[in-house]
Amino acid sequence: MRRHTDYALARRAVLSDLRRGAVARNDVCDAHPELLRAARHVGDPAPHDCPVCDGHHLRYVSYVYGERLREANGRCIVHPRELEKLGETHDEFARYVVEVCPDCGWNFLTRRELHGKRHEPGGLAPQKRPAVQLWQV
Ligand SMILES: [Zn+2]
Repeated sequence: MRRHTDYALARRAVLSDLRRGAVARNDVCDAHPELLRAARHVGDPAPHDCPVCDGHHLRYVSYVYGERLREANGRCIVHPRELEKLGETHDEFARYVVEVCPDCGWNFLTRRELHGKRHEPGGLAPQKRPAVQLWQV
């Protein structure tokens, strides 16, 4: 199974801080122009409205990071197939999923997932080495 880290609790804490005025809206709605562009063009629609402005354009944007990813390191994932491909050819990398609202600039890291062959025992590729070898490094 893939390992996931969910930041839902931290998200809730930030939103509650915002509601009681402990943090300013400017501090949480500060998405970088690049991130806003990614949200508009390649983001996956979120199943809920923006928690800050109630806008309907909330998106999830994914980035991948890993020591061995080389030119793909830090890349924004445009198509799910890209993630699959990286997973088939790399032992391990992390995917960061950021929730972004193009309307108000709200952005929050909601999830970190570990991907790669190491995390897919008995995975898709039939010619794959036995899982046990992966742990003998
Ligand atoms: Zn918003």
